[in-house]
Amino acid sequence: MTSDPSRLADLDRAHVWHPFTQMRAWSQEPPLIIDRAEGNYLIDAHGNRYLDGVASLWVNVHGHGRREIIDAIAAQASRVCHSTLLGLANVPSIELAARLAALAPGDLDKVFYSDAGSTAVEIALKIAFQYWQHRGRPQKHRFVHLDGSYHGDTLGAVGVGGISLFHEVYGPLLVPGLRAPSPHPYRHPRAETPAAVRDEALAGLARILDTHASEVAAVIVEPLVQGAAGMLVHPPGYLRGVADLCREHEALLIADEVATGFGRTGTMFACEQEAVVPDLLCVAKGITGGTLPLAATIARPAIFEAFLGEASDRRTFYHGHTYTGNPVACAAALASLDLFDKDQVLVGLGPKVTHLRDLLETHARPLSHVGDVRQRGMMVGIELVADGGTAEAYPATDLVGARVCRAARDRGIIIRPLGDVIVLMPPLAITDGELDDLVAGTCAAIAQVTA
Ligand code: PLP
Repeated sequence: MTSDPSRLADLDRAHVWHPFTQMRAWSQEPPLIIDRAEGNYLIDAHGNRYLDGVASLWVNVHGHGRREIIDAIAAQASRVCHSTLLGLANVPSIELAARLAALAPGDLDKVFYSDAGSTAVEIALKIAFQYWQHRGRPQKHRFVHLDGSYHGDTLGAVGVGGISLFHEVYGPLLVPGLRAPSPHPYRHPRAETPAAVRDEALAGLARILDTHASEVAAVIVEPLVQGAAGMLVHPPGYLRGVADLCREHEALLIADEVATGFGRTGTMFACEQEAVVPDLLCVAKGITGGTLPLAATIARPAIFEAFLGEASDRRTFYHGHTYTGNPVACAAALASLDLFDKDQVLVGLGPKVTHLRDLLETHARPLSHVGDVRQRGMMVGIELVADGGTAEAYPATDLVGARVCRAARDRGIIIRPLGDVIVLMPPLAITDGELDDLVAGTCAAIAQVTA
């Protein structure tokens, strides 16, 4: 249904307000309009092909256009596209909840659906808050989050956000969280070992919990990797330490696996790698393989049971979205989980992750303006700096990260920066040859812009 690209560009400029985008700059360049996709490539309205280096904002798992998922969507759409979960159940949402309960760590087994990562987080915050009310401890109503945290754009999620560029402006609207240090070794003032940085961050969290335990409802973390902060990879043992501190101080643990879930860090969920079972697990993005919007907040039975009672007890969780548990999105998620099995996605991931690591060490790390290369599974951040020796950052106004991504586009690669951190987050289905192209094109773009 492609129509004239220049007409579409005019209409886009006239009517579409793009997210996280300065629209004045946007309107000065012709927009890249995606028309279709094949495998790990996006194809624009002129027919140009681009490697999807960020998996269409961290969602795509099996490549685009997988027939199995498309068929499942079509089959479900022809039965029923939508019916509500308020007062009714539907077949795919039941089947998917059972599959998620079986896959999720430990005894997490009560699935509350929504449609975006932000809503999954919002729901976890509200459940945690209300849980303590039902337990007779209403003073436990505050949340602890990390410096640099990103949990989405709804107001509750912004309240536990730690990125001032995104979050500061909304300050007056927020219930502010308690901010704990992030265990981030690069640029640590004393250039400590990762283990020392971890212990220092855990000590910081312990101090907050020691002081505020009586009022803390939950600690929320992005397990193993803080994505939007710039792909900050936590030192081993940090997540385990957070979980232990939460137990010790009677704070719930909310694991926001919106970015890390569904294989991204090498296991189905990042929490598995440190044998952590959170009280509430938030998932979205990759849940449908990157095809349709769907999210879930998965709770342990003890949390769920605190909400049981008579109608007059006012223990009900009064929350729900119109499209909660949408059957077509749930059918897509079931088909995606089938593909995890059929394609043996997690088994095949190990060698790809190693190949990616080798490529980054060989081609990215030696570049003179690459200060740090961070990788966990298929999540990569390449931090660009003005001075590799001192880690001095570029002035933000130079927009170096954005210029690198623009230069990569000219080489047939779609990537997005987080400030001056270049993110690589390809579909898990990417081949070794495509990884070669992704890293080679990205490094050439970095060399070109930082020369
Ligand atoms: N949580 C994390 C860790 C994320 O990375 C994101 C999005 O990048 C979100 C929550 C918000 O998800 P959504 O954009 O689907 O609302």
